[in-house]
Amino acid sequence: MTASSRLRLKGFALGTANNTKSIDDEGETAISKRFWFISAFIVTTLTAIWLTNPGQWRSSPTVTPTDDPALTEEADNDNLIERTSPLAQIPILMYHVIGDGSGSLAELYVNPEVFASQLEYLYDNGYNTITLRELYDHWQTGAPLPARPIILTFDDGYRSDYELTFPALRQYGFRAVHFLYVKKFDHPNSLTLEEIAELVDAGHEIGNHSYNHLELHTASPASLRRETREAKAALEGLLGLEITSFAYPVGRYNADAVKAVAESGHLLAVTTEYGYASPEQGLLTLKRVRINRSDGLQGFINKLKRYEELEPRRDDKAN
Ligand SMILES: [Zn+2]
Repeated sequence: MTASSRLRLKGFALGTANNTKSIDDEGETAISKRFWFISAFIVTTLTAIWLTNPGQWRSSPTVTPTDDPALTEEADNDNLIERTSPLAQIPILMYHVIGDGSGSLAELYVNPEVFASQLEYLYDNGYNTITLRELYDHWQTGAPLPARPIILTFDDGYRSDYELTFPALRQYGFRAVHFLYVKKFDHPNSLTLEEIAELVDAGHEIGNHSYNHLELHTASPASLRRETREAKAALEGLLGLEITSFAYPVGRYNADAVKAVAESGHLLAVTTEYGYASPEQGLLTLKRVRINRSDGLQGFINKLKRYEELEPRRDDKAN
């Protein structure tokens, strides 16, 4: 359901309530007057809504979902729209830092305004963010997913995850998966435990991104164990929660690494290979869609085009 149709329904509900009250309290003339007044009000409102581009309405800076608690509530209800068939493919977007950087790693930095426009695009086009755990439950047990689901992942636990990404996502009721590695906690640019707790409280997922951020395809058996099993245990101990997803550092893995990830109790794992994720890839070697600084908004939209053909937005259908 779009914001405009929600408002439309609200308008009708309001009109009905007023109408009932007038029948109880007043004579027939008053009812008639009120009826015409309400009718005129509804027609005017509907015309105004019709004239307003729903996309612009939803993204209007003065009518954001968080400004209106009722809208936020109903946005949550959108998540209850069940898909009728198993999800064959899903974009798992891969971000690193929201901010501005230069040098050889500049492509890992997505400009905050560009990021905001990408989120606005997702919201306006009927996307709903889910976590990897929710994807796993859907693929394994058929648990329902919201319409046009998408997963946003952020690797390495940069402070921007909390300072910039979190408030930007919250504006649209979006959630993300943050892949953290244990050694990063010593770094001044790391998320703090309190910040991570806030993210978790808001429905974000924390995933394991190893102990030392080592490339696993060349790791010894002992090192593999440390980077997978011990890292998972350490993160779970630090954060007081269960971790079920894994991201291979620098996207490097081999059969031994996949085995170690599986044996340490991870349910899903993601690589850096480009593409939409599907169960046929193997639940522990899922592809992701890398979002680069140079993508801007248009490159971002292009990367989702094929998915939008596969996965029509359901809120349009509901209208
Ligand atoms: Zn990383």
